[in-house]
Amino acid sequence: MMLVLLGPPGAGKGTQAKILAQGLQLVHLSTGDLFREHRDRRTPLGLDAERYMARGELVPDETVVGMVRQRLGEPDAAGGVVFDGFPRTVAQAEALDALLADLGHELPCAIALEVARAELIRRLTGRRVCRSRGHIYHIDFKPPVIEGACDIDGSELYQRTDDALETVARRLDVYAQATQPVIDYYGACGRLCSVSGEGEPQDISQCLRAAVIGANA
Ligand code: AMP
Repeated sequence: MMLVLLGPPGAGKGTQAKILAQGLQLVHLSTGDLFREHRDRRTPLGLDAERYMARGELVPDETVVGMVRQRLGEPDAAGGVVFDGFPRTVAQAEALDALLADLGHELPCAIALEVARAELIRRLTGRRVCRSRGHIYHIDFKPPVIEGACDIDGSELYQRTDDALETVARRLDVYAQATQPVIDYYGACGRLCSVSGEGEPQDISQCLRAAVIGANA
């Protein structure tokens, strides 16, 4: 099963993609996570991608598709994948169809998670991350006991550069410009369904699972 989870930054794609992948025993492939891993390891790909990530811009299609091609070639991906944060442009969506067809897989179904812009800004600008192991907090929804310190290991909490207000606004604009056509692309070929991304995470998970099962019935 090949699934594309679409939705703007802050829609909860990452969390939901992990839950879906675990429940359906699929690989969770997040291009944002892969870029951050490369950046932290200071690989040439990571250092190149960081220039775009820090500005809230998209990494060029060729670079992203090359990285996804490599990941799809690993044996565990043959059993099925939940794509998270990819594709983000129509060119990437077309490249993914071509890659999967080459590998003899079915073409993916896409599910769009829908959340209002004001809610997205609140979710993203309030997010804080623990410096040592990446534990996630939110200043309103999940504040740490001691401000600025991780409850689990006491290390400093920081705001990702791409979660600053200006960059968030830019990421949402980029999403609307570049990724809305991806939703239209899957809609036009009858491979799209939509689920509300507002409400309790466990309710959203249930709706997503029902949508996936419906789409693959
Ligand atoms: P994310 O964690 O998915 O929001 O991704 C963080 C950043 O990585 C994005 O703001 C982009 O700079 C870059 N990125 C991740 N996925 C893609 C993609 N499919 N296409 C282009 N850039 C990407």
